Amino acid sequence: ATPTALLTGTGRGAQLGILIRGPQVLEDTRTVDTIVLDKTGTVTTGTMAVDDVVVLSDIFATDLLRLAGAVEAASEHPIAQAIALHAAGNGRLPEAHDFSSAPGGGVRATVGDVVVTAGRTGWLDRNGIRPTGTQAAALRAAEDAGTTAVWVAVDGDVAGFITLSDTVKDGSAAAIGRLRRLGLRPVLLTGDNRAVALQVAATVGIDAADVRAGVTPAGKVDAIRELQAAGATVAMAGDGVNDAAALAQADLGIAMGSGTDVAIEAADLTVMGNSLEQVAQAIELSRRTLGTIK
Ligand code: ADP
Ligand code: MG
Repeated sequence: ATPTALLTGTGRGAQLGILIRGPQVLEDTRTVDTIVLDKTGTVTTGTMAVDDVVVLSDIFATDLLRLAGAVEAASEHPIAQAIALHAAGNGRLPEAHDFSSAPGGGVRATVGDVVVTAGRTGWLDRNGIRPTGTQAAALRAAEDAGTTAVWVAVDGDVAGFITLSDTVKDGSAAAIGRLRRLGLRPVLLTGDNRAVALQVAATVGIDAADVRAGVTPAGKVDAIRELQAAGATVAMAGDGVNDAAALAQADLGIAMGSGTDVAIEAADLTVMGNSLEQVAQAIELSRRTLGTIK
């Protein structure tokens, strides 16, 4: 998406690849003291890779992967893209029909004569699917090992799960250090599981106490509200459909240029280079600019 038309950039910001929605925005960036960061696609590259297919029923791993891939092909989530790509490596994917999804939850569709549901535990639950204790323990063990694990169910029964991993962007750790030096407290906010979130936080220098994991898109909004209620002025950086409402709630919403259209539309500012370095730059720029005017 090219948000340029929506935005009235300031000259220096545009030169740096930072698109700003209006002059008021720079005023807002000056006062922020907390920066909430979405994990997937914001702190990490968002290019996920499938690590493993774990079968928990009477199905071949290749069939489980192919069914999941067919359904995920209709979703733009980084998890979905990784699963669809990986599955397509084994041959053309069958078509999916009657697709539905919940941001931050998962997907569901009909493939051939079966209904496939993929996503987190809460999404399975909403579709009336309950993993057994043994199945839940297997998924938890994979999560505790630091992977992102996604359930796959066929016709209402758990078939297994797929594990994925992601990489922290070059420069995320340095940028978070820079944001700290600007006086901002970094908070990590993610729909992904706690073990993965803690690993990423440790890599980039965010305190474990400032990690909010397993959060739904609505929960992301609540997390921002809570910080605001405690007196913080909050900037939030994100890229996903699941981040849009939180970006709108934040005092300053920042979207990654590679992000989804809804995230960009909800944000006050878009960084075209997709880096946290640019987020720090935007805040430095506003402080310098306004410092000169005053
Ligand atoms: P993040 O906050 O890290 O960007 P999301 O809120 O988008 O993560 O997703 C949270 C969780 O919801 C994922 O870790 C995954 O378990 C599940 N999920 C979301 N979208 C999908 C999808 N398309 N397929 C499978 N699982 C999904
Ligand atoms: Mg994201």
